[in-house]
Amino acid sequence: MKTLDAYNFAGKKALIRVDFNVPLNERFEITDDTRMKATLPTISKILNDGGACILMSHLGRPKNGPDEKNSLKHLVNPLSVMLGRPVKFADDCIGQSAVDQAAALQPGDVLLLENLRFYKEEEKGDVAFAEKLSKLGDVWVNDAFGTAHRAHASTAVIGQFFSDRVCGYVMQAEIDNAQRVLENAERPFTAIMGGAKISDKILIIERLLDKVDNLIIGGGMTYTFVKAQGGQIGKSLLEADKQELALEILEKAKAKGVNIIMPLDNVCADDFSNNANRQVVASGQIPDGWEGLDIGPETVKLFMETVEKSKTILWNGPMGVFEFPNFATGTNAIAKAVVKATEENGAFSLIGGGDSASAINNAGFGDRVSYVSTGGGALLEYMEGKTLPGVAALA
Ligand code: AMP
Repeated sequence: MKTLDAYNFAGKKALIRVDFNVPLNERFEITDDTRMKATLPTISKILNDGGACILMSHLGRPKNGPDEKNSLKHLVNPLSVMLGRPVKFADDCIGQSAVDQAAALQPGDVLLLENLRFYKEEEKGDVAFAEKLSKLGDVWVNDAFGTAHRAHASTAVIGQFFSDRVCGYVMQAEIDNAQRVLENAERPFTAIMGGAKISDKILIIERLLDKVDNLIIGGGMTYTFVKAQGGQIGKSLLEADKQELALEILEKAKAKGVNIIMPLDNVCADDFSNNANRQVVASGQIPDGWEGLDIGPETVKLFMETVEKSKTILWNGPMGVFEFPNFATGTNAIAKAVVKATEENGAFSLIGGGDSASAINNAGFGDRVSYVSTGGGALLEYMEGKTLPGVAALA
């Protein structure tokens, strides 16, 4: 795989697949620009070499062609401020005017293309559409790790039309950090798995059983494990058909000598809302009409002790419904423990997959851990051992 540092972009027009899928509010203002900021080093390297950048991305989930809400034109000004230079905009990602605009670019110029997903061909991985896009640049750079698990036209299919395919810095960092955790973890290695469902995490949990010393289980998936072991879980989240699987995981963990650490207590609510009545209940003793929405204080202590002693930490999924401030205590405490392990114990901490990135940023600790993945589902699939089409296309 060609790295960005090994490639000289002088005089080249780099067609860069970026992940600018940022949230916008009703006034079309960006509410979280993490993904855009993450790509700036890639763009700067190319511009500093004397190249021009043609940026392409998707935004949101447009259903029927172009719409105002999902237009990338809303990103032009913010991007121009971030880069400290003007950004041109092509209001169609293919077609003659995009071709002309790309052809007119001078070294140091930046052109942002309109939303790729205004064409249904993008997600279909349409070869002819990919070929049209490919006409815009001399070299393809893929820096969109967040969509690397999709074989879309711009993320993978397009690769065949370029002899020069280059891995961007974000993509590189995501792969390197995931590899470091999977292949070179310093021990003790603790994985913290939370979030809503076991079904989303089963493959990664199984893979991690071969690698970790400690597996902490929290969040909504806990209750399926507890129920499978005969506990009372009230109206907590349950995947009834996954109970067998939950027991199998526990058996496998035992056989492999992995220390599985489950909640001792839970903060329960009588309603799925921030203002619900609350009580702390021992694990497996949740009364009818109540549901576990966070880990309890004894669990927080237990989890924190394990995390703080770890040298490698992978955290995927919140410990509770962290979107409700009254049930974010457990998640925030774990975030604090991850920071402590990182800063005081020299641990390598990787946060990512699902909602974990927003959980750590929400807790205000995003910049005090080793790496927060922008990957979501892509990171999960990479860690499950799957080949990501967007990575494979760079070979
Ligand atoms: P994931 O995308 O798998 O990381 O799941 C994140 C979601 O899980 C968040 O929206 C949380 O609100 C939700 N979640 C975490 N714990 C619970 C719980 N105990 N009950 C219901 N939902 C939960």
